Amino acid sequence: PELEFHIPADDVPERVTLFADVILPLPLPKLFTYRIPLEMSDDVLVGARVLVQFGTKKVLSCVVARVHEQAPTDYQAKYILEVIDEKPVVTGPQLKLFSWIAEYYMCTLGEVINAALPAALKLSSESKIQLHPQFSEETNEWPLTAHEEKILFALRQKPHLTFTEAGQLLQLTSFHKIIKSLLLKEVIIIYEEIAEKYAPKVVKKVRLAPAFTTDEATLEELFNQLATKAKQLDVLLKYVQLNPLLQDMALNEHGVEKNLLTSNPHLSLSAINTLIKNGVLEQFDVVVSRFPVAEGRGPYLASELSPDQASARDEVLDHFNSKDTVLLHGITGSGKTEVYIDLIQKAVDAGGQVLYLLPEIALTAQIVTRLKRVFQDRLGVYHSKFSDNERVEVWNGILSGRFQVIVGVRSSVFLPFHSLSLLVVDEEHEPSYKQHEPAPRYNAREVALMMAHFHGAKTLLGSATPSVETYYHCQTGRWGLVNLHVRYGEAVLPEIELVDIRRESLRKNMLSHFSQKLVHDMEDTLHRKEQVILFQNRRGYSPFIDCNDCAWIPKCRNCAVSLSYHKFSNELRCHYCGYHERKPNECPACGSTMLKTVGFGTEKIEDELKLLLPEARIQRMDLDTTKRKNSHQQIIEDFEQQRTNILVGTQMVTKGLDFEHVSLVGILSADSIIHFPDYRAHERAYQLFVQVSGRAGRKGKPGKVIIQTANPNQTIFERVIENNYLGLYEQEIAERQKFRYPPFVRIIKITVKHPEAKPCEAAAIALAKDLTDRLGRTGILGPEPPHIFKIRNLFLQEVHVKLDRDGGRLRFSKNQIQEAVFHLLQSKDFKNLRVAIDVDPA
Ligand code: ADP
Ligand code: ZN
Ligand code: ZN
Repeated sequence: PELEFHIPADDVPERVTLFADVILPLPLPKLFTYRIPLEMSDDVLVGARVLVQFGTKKVLSCVVARVHEQAPTDYQAKYILEVIDEKPVVTGPQLKLFSWIAEYYMCTLGEVINAALPAALKLSSESKIQLHPQFSEETNEWPLTAHEEKILFALRQKPHLTFTEAGQLLQLTSFHKIIKSLLLKEVIIIYEEIAEKYAPKVVKKVRLAPAFTTDEATLEELFNQLATKAKQLDVLLKYVQLNPLLQDMALNEHGVEKNLLTSNPHLSLSAINTLIKNGVLEQFDVVVSRFPVAEGRGPYLASELSPDQASARDEVLDHFNSKDTVLLHGITGSGKTEVYIDLIQKAVDAGGQVLYLLPEIALTAQIVTRLKRVFQDRLGVYHSKFSDNERVEVWNGILSGRFQVIVGVRSSVFLPFHSLSLLVVDEEHEPSYKQHEPAPRYNAREVALMMAHFHGAKTLLGSATPSVETYYHCQTGRWGLVNLHVRYGEAVLPEIELVDIRRESLRKNMLSHFSQKLVHDMEDTLHRKEQVILFQNRRGYSPFIDCNDCAWIPKCRNCAVSLSYHKFSNELRCHYCGYHERKPNECPACGSTMLKTVGFGTEKIEDELKLLLPEARIQRMDLDTTKRKNSHQQIIEDFEQQRTNILVGTQMVTKGLDFEHVSLVGILSADSIIHFPDYRAHERAYQLFVQVSGRAGRKGKPGKVIIQTANPNQTIFERVIENNYLGLYEQEIAERQKFRYPPFVRIIKITVKHPEAKPCEAAAIALAKDLTDRLGRTGILGPEPPHIFKIRNLFLQEVHVKLDRDGGRLRFSKNQIQEAVFHLLQSKDFKNLRVAIDVDPA
């Protein structure tokens, strides 16, 4: 017989001490362990935020990653100070994903958390000053200086001052001395306070006090009592009109916005206040959404899929039975979005969450309009132009289940999904899915695939011009491939024409940067009341200016680049560090006034167009015209509604936008795109040309594309004209295999940065040598200064490491790289060194 233990009911085993590993929002290489006070042991949850002390004073909020019973062996664990969240704000799959990102992209969990959490969720303490509790002016024995009196006076008005506020009172210079003196004289104390940064949006409302709503008789009596108080009666009548509670008393509960009464010019403000004071009206606050609720006109249904689209959809679903990732290779205008919507709807109906990733904010407006019709208030949007408060609302909305579908740019991969079942990565080839700075230097497409893994979800990648890596995974059978090679409805792909600008300019026929052909076709298009998109890969007026007499070129004082000329602001600007200065009227080197612009950007195109086609309404879409929150949306809407005829822009105009009346697209200078120094140059150029061409000729109107080039005899143009993706792919994949580029190897780029050129080079050489010792000679490339060898006053040197894709070896090599970098940073020979590691650089 088995042994039995009898534990008396009152002899509860002693509770063990619990510890929590927390992720501090700092670039620290490991987690820190804190002791959980006994009274908090039920309240500290994995994924929730707690407050801890770090260092001597700093109090930080951090996310709990693990709760366990092992005390740290190498340091005394401090106690957790406070629990911030009753429920986790970070989900289990998210924590796994964050760890993966940190490991794969070779950064710290703190850096990941920092990138992931909206700033308003990252609380930290702030030092504040208040009067010493025992201080009184009568008993004070210390004479105070005028400055000290100033602080004292301020504290009499306002019980707490932040350091910043106190500093402003004191002109900062002597700030610390004065504060110290006040502390010694026991006039003030300093304490740390956590600032709550998230502020829900609150609307002030009023309603009739409950006493009047129990039955109509009391209400009637109230009206009788106020019979002589005309102004108060007016307010009440207005209230009743806004909130017809006479028909339904329950409505009173919701009240009306106070503002609707106070802003009404026919109502007396003092009458409103009297009613409140006398308890007839009561005030209350309601927390409302920052996102307006869709008009209740629905339910809208998704479009009916065409037979081609429906079979593509079925093929996708079929693949999902055996594969986690499927590529939808569909030409521009084939209706990939409709296929996505159909699949998203199925996922939502089955109760799952869906993430729809887009490469660019410019795209969200159109897509969101299309998705809102179907998913209405279950749809949330997330992008970098949102305010902090808006971001937190989306974050919480996903946690609470309010949003089931999220459309967003790359940072949406950090959102707190708990039951994702489908991820859509639209325009999966887009370079903007990659974050360059700061760490984590992640690619949202790769992160999405990992997210899918942790959630047990499926990923649908979509593109008209897939990345070579993605297509390779389809060719090897690892991922599913579905083709959709007809445009929706009557639409056909546009006709593409090359214009040789050397010949044109030789014949002196060329009007500025526009070939005769392009000008002629633009005029034609505008006559037909159709629209034009012009693409130029540079913003500003001209990439640089140049002195005609001495060849002086203005350079950035912080970076190794020439300054771009921006005509509207009459400035020379650096596109790398933001440095800008007024354009000089004469050459600072020789005094000549003959400063000429060289090359052309979108601003110049717009300028010349105005002279060329004075009747046309032109708008420009680039980084300079889209700084404000809704400017993208406005430009796109104006163009959609045909309030403008020509849209000039940088790559912003090439991506996934869908305009009904565009029948002509012009690519002004194709050559600068093809000759970009990168192993992906051809792939990128093909993608850009095909994508921008794809904006032409939709909804039954045949389109035309004009590509201006100085060298029309290049195979890439043939491929673009014939829409021959496979041709491009086969050439590219063969070269990548031969020269060992992704997807056959992984590349890790290590950038060494130093304020001086010599130590920068020496450090990079030392690093390359150390890496060679650790990993062998093959696969270590460099060091070499990049094309732009100085940015923001730091000289740069790069070492590239090529690694086999084999998993075990990869982990070993990454560890070696991390150690080598750590070593370099510890070295006494190099001070002020910075090192950035970029896995899968793009
Ligand atoms: P893609 O993303 O493949 O370039 P879109 O999804 O933007 O293509 O579709 C191109 C255009 O055709 C859009 O204006 C879209 O509304 C329309 N369209 C595509 N499929 C359908 C459909 N099944 N029903 C109605 N309109 C459709
Ligand atoms: Zn000069
Ligand atoms: Zn600069």
